[in-house]
Amino acid sequence: MPAIHNYLPAQYEATSRLEINHNYLQEQFADYEEILAKVAAVVRKGDFTLGREVDLLEEEFAQLAGTKHAIAVGSGTDALMLSLKGLGVREGDEVITTPYTFHATIGAIVTAGARPVFVDITDDYNIDPRFIERAITPRTKAILPVHWSGKPCDMDAIGDIARRHGLAIVEDACHAVTASYRGRPAGSLGSVGCFSFHPLKNLNVWGDGGIATTDSDETASRLRLLRNHGLVSRDECVVFAYNSRLDTIQAVVARHLLEKLAGITAARIANAAAFDRALAGIPQVRVPKRDPGIRAVYHLYIVRCQRRDELQSHLVAHGVDAKVHYRIPMHLQPAAAGFGYRRGDFPVCEQTVAEVLSLPVHEFITAEHRDRVVSLIREFYAS
Ligand SMILES: *Cc1c(COP(=O)(O)O)cnc(C)c1O
Repeated sequence: MPAIHNYLPAQYEATSRLEINHNYLQEQFADYEEILAKVAAVVRKGDFTLGREVDLLEEEFAQLAGTKHAIAVGSGTDALMLSLKGLGVREGDEVITTPYTFHATIGAIVTAGARPVFVDITDDYNIDPRFIERAITPRTKAILPVHWSGKPCDMDAIGDIARRHGLAIVEDACHAVTASYRGRPAGSLGSVGCFSFHPLKNLNVWGDGGIATTDSDETASRLRLLRNHGLVSRDECVVFAYNSRLDTIQAVVARHLLEKLAGITAARIANAAAFDRALAGIPQVRVPKRDPGIRAVYHLYIVRCQRRDELQSHLVAHGVDAKVHYRIPMHLQPAAAGFGYRRGDFPVCEQTVAEVLSLPVHEFITAEHRDRVVSLIREFYAS
């Protein structure tokens, strides 16, 4: 095993030199003194773990997701892992999911003790329900759809399969806060919905955090136990479990951002619509078909393009932080070697990762930024 180093400080430094950036946090937290004043109240009170602010955030978030309960935890990854555990997933069980996701989705399945079973995606980057049913075995416990880029999956089809086979659904809604599917919010579309408050997610905090949403009293109680040592009171432990609590200080930051979330989301949606219009005239660049019954919230604005790596270099050389989310699908990761998948198993996914490019779409992207990005793309294909 080679020595593992923290690669993030160098990465922050490299991307902060670009002009049109994915990382916009200095601007977003320009009002940090206002937040610090609210944090000071927590310091004076001293309720750092599962303090009052955590309860308030949970109430507000449940309302937002249209669920009876929300349970705040240490990260989006923990929301997923604890949800699987809370639903009774155990060693030897299988969870059907997508190979086109962030590593955390699969990490959560594996650390919950289960085996990830991959099926291919569609042209909109989300799991293809047509392949799910064939992947079900007697060991299948749950389906874990990922609302990639902030667009909810085809939940009517997935819900139908889950009902017929008695499977749980855990939504990875880490990209999808306030997204909705045929009028129903992400997080209310399965057994449990899982969200991340990572700094670069649409609703973010000053570090790590996450939350799980559910209508089930039973599942909510299990999650409350699992995140806090299995304690029902200071003295009584009913299951030996984890410490994965959202810090009270982070709940303060999340509540501050909740007040701005509608504006943040509207700006992302407007930027995406403007990019859609501007890019429609460039045949080498394509976006997925947009579905008017689905509210996508554009955590990422992902295009498919010809000569992707060259276009990315061109954009970066001209100050645009164009990124690839992500180059290696989960079934081809070194970590997946033991699962027996091979190149060619999921052709749509493999083609997708060779073509995708994410353009900055956050709320501080202006019309001038967008024009600049689109001109650079035009210029690239004209040369
Ligand atoms: C960010 C993310 C996660 C994990 O969230 P963390 O809060 O970083 O643990 C899980 N799934 C997806 C799709 C994500 O983008």
